[in-house]
Amino acid sequence: MAHYVIGTSGHIDHGKTTLTHALTGIFTDRLKEERERGVSIELGFAPLPLPDGKDVSVIDVPGHERFIRHMVSGVAGVDLILLVIAADESVMPQTLEHLHILDLLGLKRGVIVVNKVDLVEPDFLDLVEEEIRETIKDTFLRDAPFSFVSAKTGQGLAELKQLISDELNKVSARSQEGAFRLPIDRSFTLKGIGTVVTGTAYNGTIRVGDEMEWMPAERSVRVRGLQVHGKSVNEAYAGQRIAVNLTQVEWTEIERGDLLVTPDYWRTTDRLDVELALLPNLDFPIKQRTMLRLHMGTREVMCHLILFDRKELQPGETAFAQLILEEPVISSREERFILRRPSPALTVGGGRVIDPYAKKMKIRSETADILQQKSEGTVSERLVHWLEDSAKIWKTAAEASEALTIPIETLINEIKQLAVSKEILLLPRSVSQEEVALTAQTFVQTSVQLKEWKQKLHLLLEEVHRQSPLKFGVSMAELHQRLMPSLPFKTFQQWIHQYMDSLELKESGTAIALRNFSLSPPVWIQNKIAAMENELKKDIYNPVKWESFFTQHQIDKKWQTDLFHYLLERKFWYRVSDEEALYGQAFEEAKPRIIAYLKEKREMSIQDARELLDLSRKKLVALLDLMDAQQITDRKENIRTLKNES
Ligand code: GDP
Ligand code: MG
Repeated sequence: MAHYVIGTSGHIDHGKTTLTHALTGIFTDRLKEERERGVSIELGFAPLPLPDGKDVSVIDVPGHERFIRHMVSGVAGVDLILLVIAADESVMPQTLEHLHILDLLGLKRGVIVVNKVDLVEPDFLDLVEEEIRETIKDTFLRDAPFSFVSAKTGQGLAELKQLISDELNKVSARSQEGAFRLPIDRSFTLKGIGTVVTGTAYNGTIRVGDEMEWMPAERSVRVRGLQVHGKSVNEAYAGQRIAVNLTQVEWTEIERGDLLVTPDYWRTTDRLDVELALLPNLDFPIKQRTMLRLHMGTREVMCHLILFDRKELQPGETAFAQLILEEPVISSREERFILRRPSPALTVGGGRVIDPYAKKMKIRSETADILQQKSEGTVSERLVHWLEDSAKIWKTAAEASEALTIPIETLINEIKQLAVSKEILLLPRSVSQEEVALTAQTFVQTSVQLKEWKQKLHLLLEEVHRQSPLKFGVSMAELHQRLMPSLPFKTFQQWIHQYMDSLELKESGTAIALRNFSLSPPVWIQNKIAAMENELKKDIYNPVKWESFFTQHQIDKKWQTDLFHYLLERKFWYRVSDEEALYGQAFEEAKPRIIAYLKEKREMSIQDARELLDLSRKKLVALLDLMDAQQITDRKENIRTLKNES
């Protein structure tokens, strides 16, 4: 069942906490004391029972400063805003400020709650409503419904609940696609559980057992447990408020503002292209290169504002600009942020990210135009961006069409052009000079991302080759599991096969290796091989039990199997049975003699062979069995003949 989160906002003392209590029966101001009880009680979260059984909770964040932080970090999870305005005071400064901040953060839906109606004459409410309508007319709340209540007497509360329920019905489901990203707002430890971090997930899905990357430390951590709203779950999604129990990290190491992300996917950045708006009620402009505090996710970072087409930005104005950050962050296109003056602390504006990996650009008005074009984006730009934003390599054209709400025919035409110019690669790989074969089910990927995956592939194989220099690479199945288990195996295999050349790989049997890899034992093993050879030369026909032979030569167990196979491949020796091997020279020496004998005599008994080669029975049996196994001879009872004699 869908879970919804409602946030309260509005001027101090207009009744947010009282209203939350009246709706939920919980005094959020008191929840602080209950923090010690653990993850099951989230700060400021109060479950709201609705008549239709929807699972809803209200966040009531005490204090103005906390409100700003909380809204920035939790914005991905807030489905509906209650803008609380006291009827006796009407619109006040923080009403406006909250409204602007919510607007900048891209909130979509809200209800105007006119509270304390018990304090005013009914006529007065018309005036209040008029003033509010004037205030909200250019904001996301322009079409929001009104509710007139008294949190104190309970008047209008039943209608408000109904209204909330109706509005939540209009909330569309969030996408759970893409790489996971959780901005962390708290890290703590629980007895018998260990490190727990909390936050509201921005993107993707997280599962128990997942390996995640903790950023910016770039360290690998594992998800031991998950809770959503106090209940243990196996997976959790974008938009949910999540508590994650982690292993491989101490709670004291993690700071507010850190992130938990899909490994090897997110990159840090310290320069953002943005569209920025200053609050209309500010009473000063913001000048070129002003130092500001960026609030993004749960992170707060100092930054310089770079304006391209003007020297200063006036209150209420919007511009395309760049932010140069003093510390790296992780961000994505369309992410919302707030900018504050550091001291005295004041919200000055905010906006959305156009390009998280911005480059240094000339300060002139043309640059602002370039950013504007970037922000609007052509079909191909949006496609490329979406593909590169996905953790998964290879998406079908149909998936892209659905996610980007671009008709499939339009998209296919665009992909064809991008395939010809090699910006996008296809699977199956069917591009010729004249024609690009492409359907809705064709997999597509950008060449940039493919290069990144190639790098990952190479890193993995280099590591394997280093660890097992005696083994030819990794099996296709293992590579698939280790590199991209979420992609169907068949697609993975098709990719590797069809792009073998550009991926610089080679295949032997079902194993994959780097193209320039060759089996090469390290020097110490080469020395061992020489020593073993010396010993074998002393009695070449004597088969050896290879495991104990290796152990005698102080070769560690972990090397034995690989080395045995390596030596087989080199014809250093031959396999006589599962345990035994015969030195190669014995085989080479005996083979021509046996062949010559059989050419002359046609048949050879054990007795004949013993006379020919003068070997003990044990050695003779091993040698002759090997001749059979190598398809040189055929055996019937105790008589051997030449195989394929012709
Ligand atoms: P907040 O700062 O927005 O959380 O406001 P509070 O919920 O703390 O309320 C501030 C004051 O207004 C408290 O003294 C409440 O008792 C009072 N209050 C809240 N709602 C109502 C209401 O509907 N009618 C009246 N008369 N007083 C209210
Ligand atoms: Mg309050």
